[in-house]
Amino acid sequence: MRPYVLNDLFTDIRTLPGIGPKLAPLVEKLVGGPHVVDMLWHLPSGMIDRRNAPPLNEVRDGQVITILVRVLEHHSGPTPRSPTRIVCADGSGARLHLVYFHLKRKFLETLLPIGSTRVVSGKVELYRDEPQMTHPDHVGPPEDLDGLQRVEPVYPMTAGVQPRTLGKAMAGALSRVPAEMPEWLDATVMDRRHWSDWASTIRAAHAPEDEEDLSPLSPIRQRLAYDELLANQLALLLVRASQKKLTGRGLQGDGRLRAKVLEALPFSLTGAQERSLEEIGADMAAESRMLRLLQGDVGSGKTVVALLAMLNAVETGAQAALMAPTEILARQHLATLEPLAAAAGVRMALLTGRDKGKAREALLGELQAGFIDIIVGTHALFSEDVVFRDLAMAVIDEQHRFGVHQRLQLAAKGRHPDILVMTATPIPRTLSLTLYGDMDSSKLDEKPPGRKPVDTRSASIQRLDEIVGAVRRKVDSGAKVYWVCPLVEESEVSDLAAAEARHAHLREAFGDRVGLVHGKMKGADKDAVMEAFAGTGLDVLVATTVIEVGVNVPEATVMVIEHADRFGLAQLHQLRGRIGRGDKASTCLLLFGEPVSETARARLSIMKETEDGFRIAEEDLRLRGGGEVLGTRQAGMPEFRVADLAIHGELLAMARDDARLIVDRDPNLDSERGKALRVLLYLFERDEGVRTLRSG
Ligand code: ADP
Ligand code: MG
Repeated sequence: MRPYVLNDLFTDIRTLPGIGPKLAPLVEKLVGGPHVVDMLWHLPSGMIDRRNAPPLNEVRDGQVITILVRVLEHHSGPTPRSPTRIVCADGSGARLHLVYFHLKRKFLETLLPIGSTRVVSGKVELYRDEPQMTHPDHVGPPEDLDGLQRVEPVYPMTAGVQPRTLGKAMAGALSRVPAEMPEWLDATVMDRRHWSDWASTIRAAHAPEDEEDLSPLSPIRQRLAYDELLANQLALLLVRASQKKLTGRGLQGDGRLRAKVLEALPFSLTGAQERSLEEIGADMAAESRMLRLLQGDVGSGKTVVALLAMLNAVETGAQAALMAPTEILARQHLATLEPLAAAAGVRMALLTGRDKGKAREALLGELQAGFIDIIVGTHALFSEDVVFRDLAMAVIDEQHRFGVHQRLQLAAKGRHPDILVMTATPIPRTLSLTLYGDMDSSKLDEKPPGRKPVDTRSASIQRLDEIVGAVRRKVDSGAKVYWVCPLVEESEVSDLAAAEARHAHLREAFGDRVGLVHGKMKGADKDAVMEAFAGTGLDVLVATTVIEVGVNVPEATVMVIEHADRFGLAQLHQLRGRIGRGDKASTCLLLFGEPVSETARARLSIMKETEDGFRIAEEDLRLRGGGEVLGTRQAGMPEFRVADLAIHGELLAMARDDARLIVDRDPNLDSERGKALRVLLYLFERDEGVRTLRSG
């Protein structure tokens, strides 16, 4: 149960002043959630200093001032459309002109009656040496002066929401901050860092005094970021600790199946594969539950490692499952693994969302009876009616697309199954920490022998005709070509090259040798196209990023990526990994539309420079800090409200150490600080961490 001290923060934003049913959805989208607390995480991106109150004869051009004036005259223009000019003065002898467009004379006469004293606030421009203010930000009675003469936070906005409305609601949200929050941070750390308590900090974050307060490195922002990172690390550690507590089972096969498969393989394992298998084997043999990450660049040979690990479980008479994030990938896994499994007499099957009715029932029956040793599938494996006879080992491919919850769900299907998480995206240390905590990890940092580096180049889309010509020559000499487009159909972002349009265009050059595969196609149609491309039916495959993950067509040696400037680095790397898999030289062509942003240019040149996934991942994180929007936001990236991994890496390391110490000393969060930490977990909605604890 959420601690009651947080109740006010978790009420609906509709309870805030000015937010009605119409505005609520807009504000919810803007601030990223439906609760008052989400408003609080929506931090100002700028500020307007309204403290300046110079006499009018000393006002500078462009200055924002907040002063008292006397209203002297109203001048309306000759037509209703012409501006109204209102002349005011202070005691300095100079005058201030307020200029309004399209406002009714009556309205202005009530707002600024002649002879009255008014407070006005806004930006001044000098016009013919006299200060002029066009549409003041605020006009009000003199008593407003004190309230106005301060620094006003400026928030990231969205169409349809007025800054003033948001400001009012924000004030309401801030008034809900509990007066007494238990302190979850260590007092010495707070001292050293000059951090104050959470309530003061969140208030200060919304009341910046100067530009420095807005910096992510200000003590204010750092405290908030640290809280968030600590919640993240603590939740991960608690989940992990609870999993470790559940004793696993010692799984140690006799190696007979693995020997057969190794014999059937047309290659021998790389050193990195052998090493990873040893690490996995040791984990599986141990009584405690395995939770291990297998990281390896695209093409580094994770699939075989996964199979051999699963066979270890099967050798003991148990079952194993391999889960992939997409249907295509699940099928591909089955296609590669089945012949190998068959060599060892191991029975394999596929389960995806497409399986329905009788066939599905029959399959589930076999699984439950233990006639299937290894099942490969998509998230369909999570369904409640999927029951194993004895699931001892689960491999989750590309898991950062699945959440922690789902990982637990699968684990619940077996008797403490060992879990191996495979990811093809090399993850920088900082990121892997926030996604997986301190999960044990094995790295495939050595590519299978014989791979040729991919020759990567970039070119402007304006050279399209030339490029089609070059692709034509490649195809004539027997190459297979991926042609990647970012979006299908001209939807949200209309200037993105549409895969369908490109497909039609390329058909003029390649006729029916060019196929199209995209995310909105039916599964069976997708498979048919992929098969034709893998076989002899197609030479050119126009694809959206559905091919991003896992697809293996070793004969493909050319990849053209359109609008490469709009993809994130990690994504480009993933895509490029689809080629260069065979022993022939490959070429990757990154097409960009002009003009190219600085960051996009940097990304393209990194792609040309290196194929090292770990290096690319680090650069990706670094560039991401530049506030890029499109293309870099990847599924599964941890969503932080305040923390920015590109900036707060140091705080993350600190949070991890802190979390470790906490879990060591107070594993059930029973102490005074432990109870406060429970509040923290709920504050950041990381309550899965709390749910692993005994109630208390
Ligand atoms: P990943 O899943 O890591 O992207 P795969 O497991 O799909 O990579 O392997 C890519 C290709 O490399 C496959 O065709 C696979 O058969 C091959 N391969 C794997 N291990 C080796 C090895 N040790 N030597 C040669 N080829 C290998
Ligand atoms: Mg793979």
